[in-house]
Amino acid sequence: LSERLGGVFDRLTRAGALSEEDVITALREVRVALLEADVSLPVARDFIKRVQEKATGSAVTKSITPGQMVVKFVHDELTRVLAGDEPPEALKIDNPPATILMVGLQGSGKTTTTAKLAKRLKEKNGKKVLLASLDTQRPAAMEQLAILGVQIGVDSLPIVKGETAVQIAKRAKTQASLGGYDVVFLDTAGRLHIDEVLMDEVQAVRDIAQPRETLLVVDGLTGQDAVNVASEFDGKVGISGVVLTRMDGDGRGGAALSMRAVTGKPIRFVGLGEKMDAIEPFEAERVAGRILGMGDIVALVEKAQETFEAEQAERMAKRFSKGLFNMNDLRMQLEQMLKMGGMQGLMGMLPGMGGMAKKAEEAGFNDKMLRRQIALINSMTKRERANPDLLQASRKKRIAAGAGLEVSELNKLLKQHKQMADMMKKFGKGGGMKQMIRQMM
Ligand code: GDP
Ligand code: MG
Repeated sequence: LSERLGGVFDRLTRAGALSEEDVITALREVRVALLEADVSLPVARDFIKRVQEKATGSAVTKSITPGQMVVKFVHDELTRVLAGDEPPEALKIDNPPATILMVGLQGSGKTTTTAKLAKRLKEKNGKKVLLASLDTQRPAAMEQLAILGVQIGVDSLPIVKGETAVQIAKRAKTQASLGGYDVVFLDTAGRLHIDEVLMDEVQAVRDIAQPRETLLVVDGLTGQDAVNVASEFDGKVGISGVVLTRMDGDGRGGAALSMRAVTGKPIRFVGLGEKMDAIEPFEAERVAGRILGMGDIVALVEKAQETFEAEQAERMAKRFSKGLFNMNDLRMQLEQMLKMGGMQGLMGMLPGMGGMAKKAEEAGFNDKMLRRQIALINSMTKRERANPDLLQASRKKRIAAGAGLEVSELNKLLKQHKQMADMMKKFGKGGGMKQMIRQMM
């Protein structure tokens, strides 16, 4: 994916505002790339639409290319989708003994993940942990968990032949209470495919065990299948989170994006290898970077934006303090407003102004208006922008037509500019303006 994106973004090197065409071209490739990374079609489509809305019309900071700018938008939206609304939280293990039920298909990495999480809780949180295998189908799997337990120095429930999964779960709970354990892991049996027998068993165990957490372990390499498995398990058993394993492989994390979007369940951990330490809490930022493979560009864009904004503020402050205010200055202000969330956003920030924001919106003061005004200024020549007094009827007609708008709208803009310019003249002489502008930006 990163290679492909790199190509797209190198091709886009024109400076200026991001045109709709720039964005659409770049995003067309991003869409294909997302699909190749195993993001489901509706999720990819939705995702692209949102990035397109956000990116179109935004200014391109000097020293970075429009393509890099689009990467930043893609990255930010990826992070937002992956993180969801709630902050990532640690495993719920209060009220000991807390039961954590591990579910998933056979071979997904359940037993390995169980041991990895047990090791973390023991070492990072100082918890006393008990492991119990409910895999009555496969004696070897029960042995496997016991061996891992010895390896990480965590107790496991003694194996008793002939017990059902529910009986083992009961015994594990009793043992956990008697033995003063903080956490007990129930590692259930998997099947190769979802079937009724498996689901019935897991449901019965769940009802007996009353787990604080039900973690679904899925193989991150299986892409779209992983998402279907998650939907099934969530529907039948109810899960509190997902662990994506094999994220150390060359799977590109597309499953993570669909997972979050389709199931709405948080990804809590990612497995990064076979070793007992190869597990990490899920970090949206990092997985987004992984899907894009372009962490450096994002950092670069952020830095460039900061520097540019500081320079711009400085330059404007100087002009204003001399009482200067032309169309370029106005455009910069309008763009700044858009960036800060537009009219609604600005007024929404002021206490008691919520109602005003609504009225302003109704009167036509909204982001669309800001964008129209910017388009009008863009339609002026350099000379006209520097000196709006030049604007006579024929020029006005040309400018309005260029922006696809009415002359009356241009007149409104000119009036607004005149008022602001007059204000600048008045305040500029008095000084103190520079300070004010700096704070405004
Ligand atoms: P279970 O059947 O769901 O209990 O799966 P296991 O825990 O037995 O894991 C099956 C195989 O996958 C084992 O060989 C594990 O070492 C391997 N495995 C588990 N998690 C990961 C991971 O995050 N990365 C890699 N590369 N291998 C893993
Ligand atoms: Mg197992």
